[in-house]
Amino acid sequence: MASATFASLELSPSLVAAVSALGYEEPTPIQREAIPVLLSGRDLVGQAGTGTGKTAAFALPLLNRLLAEKPHAKAGKDAARFPPVRALVLVPTRELAMQVAEAIHKYSKGTQLTVVPCYGGAPMDQQIRALMRGASVVVATPGRAIDHLKRKTLDLSQLSMLVLDEADEMLDMGFAEDLETIIGATPETRQTALFAATMAPRIAAIANQHLRQPARVTIAREKRAAGKLPQIRQVAYIVARAQKIEAFGRVLEFENPKSAIVFCRTRVEVDELTDTLKSHGYSAQAIHGGMEQRQRDKVMGLFRAGKCDMLIATDVAARGLDIEHVSHVINYDPPNAPEVYVHRIGRTGRAGREGVAITFADHRERRFLRNIENLTKQPIEMLPLPTASDLKARRLETTRAALKERIEAGGLDEEKKFIQSLTHDFDVAEIAAAAIALAFASEPDVPEIEIPEPPPSRPYKSQPYQSRGDRPERGSKPYKGARPKTGGAEGSHEGVDLSDIAVLRIGVGKKAGVGPGDLVGAIAGEAGIPSRLIGAIRVAHDHSLVQVPAQLFDQIAGALKKATIRGKRVDVSRDPS
Ligand code: AMP
Repeated sequence: MASATFASLELSPSLVAAVSALGYEEPTPIQREAIPVLLSGRDLVGQAGTGTGKTAAFALPLLNRLLAEKPHAKAGKDAARFPPVRALVLVPTRELAMQVAEAIHKYSKGTQLTVVPCYGGAPMDQQIRALMRGASVVVATPGRAIDHLKRKTLDLSQLSMLVLDEADEMLDMGFAEDLETIIGATPETRQTALFAATMAPRIAAIANQHLRQPARVTIAREKRAAGKLPQIRQVAYIVARAQKIEAFGRVLEFENPKSAIVFCRTRVEVDELTDTLKSHGYSAQAIHGGMEQRQRDKVMGLFRAGKCDMLIATDVAARGLDIEHVSHVINYDPPNAPEVYVHRIGRTGRAGREGVAITFADHRERRFLRNIENLTKQPIEMLPLPTASDLKARRLETTRAALKERIEAGGLDEEKKFIQSLTHDFDVAEIAAAAIALAFASEPDVPEIEIPEPPPSRPYKSQPYQSRGDRPERGSKPYKGARPKTGGAEGSHEGVDLSDIAVLRIGVGKKAGVGPGDLVGAIAGEAGIPSRLIGAIRVAHDHSLVQVPAQLFDQIAGALKKATIRGKRVDVSRDPS
């Protein structure tokens, strides 16, 4: 695999320093391809989804460009109080707006550049104040960007760079018209980058219309014969980021690996995970590109001698290692390219031995797992996390095997004599049970709390409106109770109770040309509700009905009353049925 460093990409030193501080060791494939193109000033169409490192692929050249340019001198007449924005990133959801703004904030550390996220559901006045102070980069959902344009609180007249991130999803959500309006408010001189996970004709149409001879970047797949991949068991657990460490601990206990390599994306994550594992009594050692060769050799020595069971590694550090065999390859983070997955898991199941590859991913990374399956032509089995009772059963199973081995090894005469001395007072089974309970006493308790399931990957918008007797769609599940009540997981809308639903009646329908995408777009964009929390939708002639979590009803209704759908103010009420 061709290697490159961030420094060799000719990014400004402050950006190279920022990614290095984040623990990135080398650019991902999409970054290697896209960064030079964007740095050269060309427009770009990139086919890359979540998990590939696409955010840095556009954010680093964007920041580089702003650092190289002189800041704009003055605002236009109309927007005298609002300094013109220099770069705009449009994203489909509030969740993504927060993530992308946070990433850009981290990459711009040590520079004077500022980033302001603008999404529906957050207080308007706060955003307006931030825009008035002057934002170098705005990361916005289309609905909110339009709102600011109308209020003249967003001046795009001198924009240097525009990024359409997850453009396919923005179109799916009914933002096509809004995108046109926003692009119309930007100057033709801007540089434009468009990213989408799929290259549907509608995406190509936007690219043809608004991008100037764009370079196209699709990460070429290495052709790998399926036969080269060892036949190993490949499984994945979908967990929210906030629950990952807990889930990982549980899977480790369940799998009890003899020797494992655990992959993380960055040096910082490797160090953090190693510390956590050590504090839980595991013999884990870190290995990454930031360590001196001497240290790395020492760690490898320990691993080879079986003095440590787990190596926690970045891809760069593991690439040079000659490791004969490990029982488990664990992707604490999925890699940034499907090919890297194949390299990683090739370290287990060698020479016909049994091996297991385990991947932890969040719900946004599911598509990425499917790309891997397409590449390897082998299935990855999605498993539910082991439950508390699974763990208990596994402990007993391990104990049974250990006892059998010990009994067969013999030499237990003294112990037998001791037991016999107790049989006057107790039953043999009782004595053995007590001995096992004592042996377990030093083990950590099996946790009783179940880890909540992450949200489903398919947004609820395509699920049946069951209470009204609509024909269920293929493969869909009922909305009610589809997800257990959760607490404190990823994002601010985790923990929303989906078993209690309310029906929103919106006073526009087919007559006004409204489709489900418009409704999802308005609710997601204006109220800042992730589309996955929106239930079934029915668009009637002159009104529409949308299932929403009852807990969020007031927030959504309040936001929609102030918004427009297809350019019209709408009546919003609670449907009584
Ligand atoms: P994205 O596809 O932009 O959502 O990025 C997915 C994850 O990869 C994020 O957690 C990033 O912090 C991480 N990431 C991006 N680029 C790199 C890199 N070059 N090395 C390691 N991790 C990266």
